[in-house]
Amino acid sequence: MKYISTRGQSPARTFTEILLGGLAPDGGLYLPEQYPQVSRAELDEWRKLPYADLAFAVLSKFITDIPAGDLKGIIARTYTPQTYCHTRAGSDARDITPLRTLEPGVHILELSNGPTLAFKDMAMQLLGNLFEYALSQQHEELNILGATSGDTGSAAEYAMRGKRGIRVFMLSPHGKMSAFQRAQMYSLQDPNIFNIAIRGMFDDAQDMVKAVSNDHAFKAKYKIGTVNSINWARVSAQIVYYFKGYFAATKSNDEQVAFAVPSGNFGNICAGHIARMMGLPIGQLILATNENDVLDEFFRTGAYRPRGTDHTYETSSPSMDISKASNFERFVFDLAGRDAAKVREFWGRVEAGGSFDIRHTPYWDALPQFRFASGKSAHQDRLKTIRELWEEYGVMVDTHTADGIKVGLEQRRPSLPLICLETAQPAKFGETIREALGREPVRPEALAGIENLPQRVEVMDADVAKLKAFIAASAA
Ligand SMILES: *Cc1c(COP(=O)(O)O)cnc(C)c1O
Repeated sequence: MKYISTRGQSPARTFTEILLGGLAPDGGLYLPEQYPQVSRAELDEWRKLPYADLAFAVLSKFITDIPAGDLKGIIARTYTPQTYCHTRAGSDARDITPLRTLEPGVHILELSNGPTLAFKDMAMQLLGNLFEYALSQQHEELNILGATSGDTGSAAEYAMRGKRGIRVFMLSPHGKMSAFQRAQMYSLQDPNIFNIAIRGMFDDAQDMVKAVSNDHAFKAKYKIGTVNSINWARVSAQIVYYFKGYFAATKSNDEQVAFAVPSGNFGNICAGHIARMMGLPIGQLILATNENDVLDEFFRTGAYRPRGTDHTYETSSPSMDISKASNFERFVFDLAGRDAAKVREFWGRVEAGGSFDIRHTPYWDALPQFRFASGKSAHQDRLKTIRELWEEYGVMVDTHTADGIKVGLEQRRPSLPLICLETAQPAKFGETIREALGREPVRPEALAGIENLPQRVEVMDADVAKLKAFIAASAA
């Protein structure tokens, strides 16, 4: 299996060649040359498999340059009940992604039982083990540099902690995250994890990361890398739970289902699109946005108009507060019949600060065959959904999951079982839970009182020279 760029001007690469990188050299995103197909016999076989075996069955179609025995070991170490242990009452950690049925035909797929209580753990934990494996094969080291306002940074730290050959330098805005988020990240005592709290806003931290990455000599000398959401390995790991969710919600492979996906960078739902392209019987892929509705607008009108960071709202589902959806290019490549010249034209406009519109093109007529539906959910919808789920089913969901459920129930075709992806646990977003329910969110027992653990964090001015000196000293 080789990977090609959505911009069509980079050579094809293998999985391990693109594993540690980000964008293709031509600025595009990597995708498989063609999607592997799943036969009916394979689906019948896969239905019986436990999560790690299913993950191996799916991923070995995409990863053909790691020996099968090694890949199997990496996956078996990644998807264990010990790692995905933060289940709530009634769910079984051995399922890794347990399915909770609210009523016949309406389900929640729990993807947030990992160490940081967000679905990003599902892919990031695999990435940590793949990175460690690849680096040891190549006798290389990697210093991961990133900026976070919450979910991604903590998922990366928990995935990379204690890994040989890897250090993580994670910048966060000083005093801007919740006490729980700070405790999650700053309480890590692993010597390869460096938390750096920047006196400034998230954007200042982000700008520092960009400044370091643009210093090519420094970047090369200190082997600086990232773990952003366009990484292909992350998308591929997410394909697995669409299969798992499908099998859990159906009795036979003749049935179709709908998935509702709270979306920001289009990474999660892109994996659903790929699962469908492989032959998984998905009748609907329902995309939910919050007040930042760039993607909902596209699926309703055909216009893709990224908003720019100064027109991005801060909402109570903050992990979906994006101005442009970094994985969306992957879908548009498929929608455009894999015409890379067309993708270059569209993203040429986007990168110049503009937009594109497919309404009066053949792509608009092709769109329905990809089975997307979409909708948006705002703060009051979120509160209402959280209250209704709590009152009707005694189930507490987080703000992002609430957006997905609201839009899923609105957009679903009633004939299809609906699987709503749970992308985080309510414990991470206590303020909105208190506003909706007038009570504290439920928190996994093992995380009781983490705010009281000793914290390890370097507080720093937004000064690129100081950051470089810190990395140089720590990476020595
Ligand atoms: C990252 C994240 C999302 C958005 O996922 P994308 O892959 O960026 O679309 C939704 N909910 C939560 C809780 C997240 O952390």
